[in-house]
Amino acid sequence: MSKFLRKLTALVLVASLVGCSSTTKPKTEVGSLKAGTYTTTAKGHNNDMKFEVVISETGITEVKILEHAETEGIADLPLERLPQQIVDGQTIAVDTIAGATYTSKAIIEGVEKALVEAGADVEAFKVKKEEAKKEGQHIEKEADVIIIGGGGAGLAAAASATQNGASVILIEKMPKLGGNTILAGGGYNAVDPKRQEPLGIEDSLELHYNQTLEAGDNKGNPELVKTLVDGAYPGIEWLESMGMKFQDEVILITGSLHKRTHSSEQALGTDYIKVLETEVNKNGGEILLETAAEELILEDGVVTGVKAVAENGDTLTLNAKNGVILASGGFGANVEMREEANAINNAWPSLDEQIKTTNHPGATGEVITMAEKIGANVINLEDIQLLPLGDPVNGSLKGKLGKSPVDYIHVNKEGKRFVSEDARRDVLSYALIEQTDKTMFIIDDADTYPSLDTDTNFAVSVRDLVDTGKAFAADTIEELAEMIDVDPATLRKTIDDYNAMVDAGVDHEFGKKQFGNKIDKAPYYACPRVPTVHHTMGGVEINTNTEVINKDGNVIPGLYAAGEVTGGIHGTNRVGGNAFADIIVFGKIAGEQAAKNK
Ligand code: ADP
Repeated sequence: MSKFLRKLTALVLVASLVGCSSTTKPKTEVGSLKAGTYTTTAKGHNNDMKFEVVISETGITEVKILEHAETEGIADLPLERLPQQIVDGQTIAVDTIAGATYTSKAIIEGVEKALVEAGADVEAFKVKKEEAKKEGQHIEKEADVIIIGGGGAGLAAAASATQNGASVILIEKMPKLGGNTILAGGGYNAVDPKRQEPLGIEDSLELHYNQTLEAGDNKGNPELVKTLVDGAYPGIEWLESMGMKFQDEVILITGSLHKRTHSSEQALGTDYIKVLETEVNKNGGEILLETAAEELILEDGVVTGVKAVAENGDTLTLNAKNGVILASGGFGANVEMREEANAINNAWPSLDEQIKTTNHPGATGEVITMAEKIGANVINLEDIQLLPLGDPVNGSLKGKLGKSPVDYIHVNKEGKRFVSEDARRDVLSYALIEQTDKTMFIIDDADTYPSLDTDTNFAVSVRDLVDTGKAFAADTIEELAEMIDVDPATLRKTIDDYNAMVDAGVDHEFGKKQFGNKIDKAPYYACPRVPTVHHTMGGVEINTNTEVINKDGNVIPGLYAAGEVTGGIHGTNRVGGNAFADIIVFGKIAGEQAAKNK
């Protein structure tokens, strides 16, 4: 079992009727229930989950999660909330938690199985409980700094503002912190001689700067790019000062163009969110979940606060003594907005709902519109990044196999390579769109995953991916080809040709420059992938102090922005691994600047 995953044992997560105020009996007929304690299992996101469900003659009295291997940070909410909601409501018609639907569904299934065993009329337990909506209250609060968005940029801003003595209220519209940050691979680019030199990697700030600008077709603001690359390593040191641990290995990830991408100890963005949230809490920052910004308050040309609405119906006026920081991320999950943006120059043939997204459902971009309404200059919305690494079923990055494109290849459904795997992300995605069914397979081998029990950098083991049909493993290339419905002789030839190129150090077909291991050690792996909307490079214009700029080129007093909500850093195409540097570098600056703006 993955070392990144928690395995909780008995009695840790328990929900029961004891002390519950709500009704204990379902309104509908439940059948004749056989009272007892039922042990059930259901497949969660990562592995089987085990439940103990206590059923009385009148209903469900207790739901315990005995064992699970779900991912910390992502699955916390369903683990904590759903068992209690099921017991409180006497219903399995509870809402799944966005971003953790597999875990949610497993909990529901586990209870359903127990109900079946108890002879219940299961349909009676599928009646949704109507919540008596309470009359919303109006709440007025004040802090030095109000932050919209609890992903990486917002939490970095909150940590830095509180470190600089400011009081902070951070609002997050989703039921959990993390945004896209927690779902991403977690790769962080920084020039870091301490780690790179022992690995024989040559690098410089100048190279990072040039690659960032050039990969975005020189559309990024050079001053912001300089701030990004100069601040990237100090950003790592800042995270380390708060307890974050990075691996010594520095690699090239998809579209990162150079071996300067750092990985945290835990997979995904989990460590970043955990470390920053802990710092904010330690420093007394206030975090309000399920609270969505609806309007920026502008008084005499100065941004003085935010109007928000909470899930429970409360309305909030949050007054900012110093300033408001926008850290609400991008709009990759808002199909209408991304189609409208794409229509500006039709950079992609289409970004309709057929193209899935790696993003969390809250990446809907309404804060960009709010900022524009009060005069912010919104730029480069047409620059939308597609990543060729999404799950064909749901767009997620989670099922991706393969760590570094120096070690693996992309093959199409005909079993042939079609692009240089170390190319820019837009180049990779344009090439993939031209392939049959816009689908490819990443082909990798035992150099990356010595056994099926090895973890991917998305917090699942290869075995889990194989068991759930997300990936394939075989002892020979020919067997692997059969599994993915590709002509074995063609795939064999593709691999042989590629291995010869690795030996020669020259890719005469597609110009790959960065070679790692050959593909010659069983087990061999294949993982289907499609292009998915990943990052929206446009947003509100900022200067190097993260102050938001208006349409006349002047600063809007009291308004700051950091992270994916901003535009002007990455140009037409973001370098892989630069987003984590972006959220930390600019989030930190935003927190400092807003704290100082007395
Ligand atoms: P970044 O990488 O720039 O930090 P993320 O996607 O990680 O972006 O985080 C942005 C966060 O902002 C998400 O958690 C998202 O749910 C939140 N958010 C977006 N719009 C709003 C809003 N209107 N009010 C409050 N939070 C919001």
